[in-house]
Amino acid sequence: MEIAQDKVVTIDYTLTDNDDNVIDQSSEGRFAYLHGANNIVVGLENALAGKELGDELSVSVPPDEAYGIRNEDRMQDVPKKAFPDDVEITPGTPFHAEGPNGDVIMVTVIKVDGDTVTIDGNHPLAGVHLNFQVNVVDIRDATAEELEHGHVHGPSGHQHS
Ligand code: ZN
Repeated sequence: MEIAQDKVVTIDYTLTDNDDNVIDQSSEGRFAYLHGANNIVVGLENALAGKELGDELSVSVPPDEAYGIRNEDRMQDVPKKAFPDDVEITPGTPFHAEGPNGDVIMVTVIKVDGDTVTIDGNHPLAGVHLNFQVNVVDIRDATAEELEHGHVHGPSGHQHS
């Protein structure tokens, strides 16, 4: 069986940036995704298509096939009073905020200067080149329910309560 649309694929992976910093790593529970359902970054999904059980691969994904390029317009200064009173605002703190279209976006605090807070609305991995070291450890057909939900169920996937 090879990796194709509607297969549930389990992988072990290590994700590093171009400076060899480990950004993310699958735990021993491993990571399962539904192929063709946009569960993972497109550059990695494309590279896995056609691979088989036991295959090992190194995939280098440029930002435009991962979390996008950085947009400096998403850096902005906002008044400190725009934040909730009961949270500490320090560089690196992530917040949910309302985006220009009313949708919820994640912003990160970059700097606090008196009553002014500089936030960055870019995805933390925007502009980052992603290097995946991947082992394919399982491939199976998705169930009808998984296809309907668009994600994997079970120990390495989505847990419904
Ligand atoms: Zn589900």
